[in-house]
Amino acid sequence: MLALTDKLERPVRDLRISVTDRCNFRCTYCMPKELFGKDHEFLPRDELLSFDEISHLVRVFTERGVEKVRITGGEPLLRKDVEKLVGMIRSVDGVEDLTLTTNASLLVRKARALAAAGLDRVTVSLDALDDPTFQRMNDVGFPVAAVLEGIEAAAESGLGPIKINAVVQRGVNDHAVIDMARHFRGTGHIVRFIEYMDVGTTNGWRLDDVVPAEEMVSSIHEVFPLEPVPPNYPGEVANRFRYLDGRGEVGVIASVTQPFCGSCTRARLSAEGTLYTCLFAGSGTNLRDAMRAGEDVGPIIDRVWSAREDRYSEVRSSQTVSIGSRVEMSYIGG
Ligand code: SAM
Repeated sequence: MLALTDKLERPVRDLRISVTDRCNFRCTYCMPKELFGKDHEFLPRDELLSFDEISHLVRVFTERGVEKVRITGGEPLLRKDVEKLVGMIRSVDGVEDLTLTTNASLLVRKARALAAAGLDRVTVSLDALDDPTFQRMNDVGFPVAAVLEGIEAAAESGLGPIKINAVVQRGVNDHAVIDMARHFRGTGHIVRFIEYMDVGTTNGWRLDDVVPAEEMVSSIHEVFPLEPVPPNYPGEVANRFRYLDGRGEVGVIASVTQPFCGSCTRARLSAEGTLYTCLFAGSGTNLRDAMRAGEDVGPIIDRVWSAREDRYSEVRSSQTVSIGSRVEMSYIGG
């Protein structure tokens, strides 16, 4: 194995792979309808990486230290036969943890096949427990109950412990913090509240819209007392807290107020095979064309990762739109 590290001594340990830029939700903070409407042109099929190409890249990355792979999107369950890809990645030596992030809309249908193919766990995105708020946020009228059914189907198929990610926006769904804590306490599922981030440039992000993680923790603590828990492993993105009454744990991801660039070991691959070294990057490196031209992509990855010095979240200002172009979350994956 090559000891590949970047300019800040960070190894490459995680690979997040977007398998499609399409989604069946239009979350207002991620793929707003005005910009991702009927006329929006998604990537044509032949521009997407094939399953063979993705598996090949996973192999090249594991040879460089990647142990954890997360399949994302867009909505990854929209990619035809995604369970086949899961099986192919599962068989790559060195993949120790294989997970998938989904809005759960297709989980009832897919959970069993995903588990059978070797997926370890799923993370489900759910931003509120009341339909008026959730439907306003997903903007396609998708009901909460169907997401909850998807979560249960995943749990029954052995895809747990399930993490449930909620992006919290001030004045939009901050009331959901207590609702969700209450609902999922004692279920074995772990809710993680995420500070709303300034990914991409289409969501009109303002620092005022962010509810700081510390505020979320103290509001939960007032109702359901908590104590901090040490991270499961160095560099874990969520700060963990346990309910004092023993009914499980919650997490917060404080990417805005307590950035964790210093321990970021994540590489990201867009659906068309562009490598990004930061969620907030403006540009990346096209691995697909190199691969299709028969080039060995290993040295390209080595060069890109060795030159990596991104630490966007540590240097962002309160008004980030002026910093320049950044890739959209729906394109690069969460
Ligand atoms: N469609 C899948 C899903 O819904 O989980 C996977 C892709 S989605 C882009 C991944 C995650 O990114 C979701 O949990 C979503 O809420 C989160 N996300 C999108 N935009 C965000 C933002 N501006 N700040 C924080 N999280 C965001």
